[in-house]
Amino acid sequence: MNEIIPPPPAIVRNDYASIRELFVKNVVPSYGRFELVLSHGAGRYVFDVAGKRYLDLGSGIAVCSLGHAHPAITEALVEQSRKLIHVSNLYFTEPQGRLAAEIVKHIGAGKVFFSNSGAEANEGLFKLARKFGHDEGRYEILTAVNSFHGRTMAGIAATGQDKVKKGFEPMMAGFRHIPYNDLDAMRAAISPATVAIMIEGVQGEGGVTPATPEYLLGLRALCDEKKLLLLVDGVQCGHFRTGKFQSFQRILEGVPGGEKFLPDGLSMAKSLGGGFPIGAFWVREPFQDLFGPGTHGSTFGGTPLACAVALKILEVIEREKLADNARQLGAWMQAELERLAKNYPTVVKGSRGLGFMLGLELAEKIPAFAASDKPAAIQFVNRLHAAGVLTIPAGTQIVRLLPSLNLKPQEAGEGLAIIEETVKSLV
Ligand SMILES: *Cc1c(COP(=O)(O)O)cnc(C)c1O
Repeated sequence: MNEIIPPPPAIVRNDYASIRELFVKNVVPSYGRFELVLSHGAGRYVFDVAGKRYLDLGSGIAVCSLGHAHPAITEALVEQSRKLIHVSNLYFTEPQGRLAAEIVKHIGAGKVFFSNSGAEANEGLFKLARKFGHDEGRYEILTAVNSFHGRTMAGIAATGQDKVKKGFEPMMAGFRHIPYNDLDAMRAAISPATVAIMIEGVQGEGGVTPATPEYLLGLRALCDEKKLLLLVDGVQCGHFRTGKFQSFQRILEGVPGGEKFLPDGLSMAKSLGGGFPIGAFWVREPFQDLFGPGTHGSTFGGTPLACAVALKILEVIEREKLADNARQLGAWMQAELERLAKNYPTVVKGSRGLGFMLGLELAEKIPAFAASDKPAAIQFVNRLHAAGVLTIPAGTQIVRLLPSLNLKPQEAGEGLAIIEETVKSLV
C-alpha cells in the first residue's frame, strides 16, 4: 500500500491557525464550523492537527459506516481505480449493475437510479412523482413538519423547516408540510393536485423522531386508496443504522401486516458509500420504468469507483453482522442515555431513536449554559469536543449519536463514560 499512497507529510508545526485562515479567506462561509481542524482517522477515532484524538460518534453525519481508513474501502478504491474510475452512463459497467441488484435484493422488486448525494436522490423521486401524475395534472408532494430533504431548490421546498428556506423565496411550488406521525392530518391535507407523500422513516435533522408503525401502515393504505406514491427518505436512517436495511423494516418488525409494507420510492445516500459520495433511489414495481431513456440523468451517478466501494461496504456489513451490532450495541447505548436522564434530570431530559441513530435530549435551561446565547446542543457538543468525543447537534436541544456500524462495545463504553462525565459537570 505504501508504494501506492505516499505517507502524509510530517507535521512540523501546529497548523490550526493557518488552515482556519485559508477557510476564512477562501471558503464560502455557509457552514457554522466547530473550531477543530481534523487531519486523519483510524477506525472510530479521528485526530486533529495538534495530534489530539477524538472518538467519532458522529461519523461525518451518519456517513462513515465502516469508520475511518477502513482497509477494505482503501483496497476497493485502489483496485477499482486501477481498472476504471468513470466512463459515464452512456455505457454499461459491472459494479453499477451489481450494486443495483444488491439494493433490489435488500428491499424488493423494482429498479435503482444512482446519484451523488441525498438531495439529488430526493430530486429524482420528486421528478418521478411529477412524471407519475403529469397526465392527470397532479404534481403536489406532501412532506412532514420538521422533515429534512436536502439543500437543492426542490430540497428546501420539500423540507419542513423554515430555517432552510429563509432568504431563498419564492419557494418552488408543489410542496406542503403536514404534522409528522399524524395520519388524520395527512388524509385531510390531500388535494386533487396531490401526487405523492414523502417522509423520513426516522426524522434526523428534525431531532431523531421515528415514525410509528400505525403511521407507516396508515400512509401505505392512504396512498393506495388515493393513488399517491409513498416516498421514503432513507438518506440518514437507512443502510442498517437502525438494525435493519431500512428503518421502516425495523419499525414494522413483528407488527401484523408490517412484513408486506413497501414504499413506492426510497432514497439513499450517507452510509451507502462510507464517505465516498454516492446516492441512489429505488423505485418499486410497477413504476420502475417511468423514467425512460433521456428523462433523467447524472454524469457522475453510479461510477464504477463509487459502486465498487458501496458493494464492498455491503459485503463487510453482512460478513461482520454489523446490522446486529447496530441493534444490540445501540440498545445498550440508549439504555445508558435513559440512565443518564434518570440520574441527572436537570441536564438530560431523555433519549430517542433506534439502533445507531440516537438522540440525547437536553433539559431546558441548564444553568451552566446560561452565560452563552448559543443553543444548548451546540454548547454540549463543544464540551464533548474538549473531552475527546465527536457528536452531532440537531436543533437546539438534541445531541445525535450516529456512530459507525462497526463501533466496538468498549468504544461505546468509553464514549458513554465521557458523556456521563460531561453531564455530571453540568449538574
Ligand atoms: C442528509 C440528508 C439529506 C441530504 O443529503 P445530501 O447528501 O446532504 O444532499 C436528505 N435527506 C435526509 C433525511 C438527510 O439526512
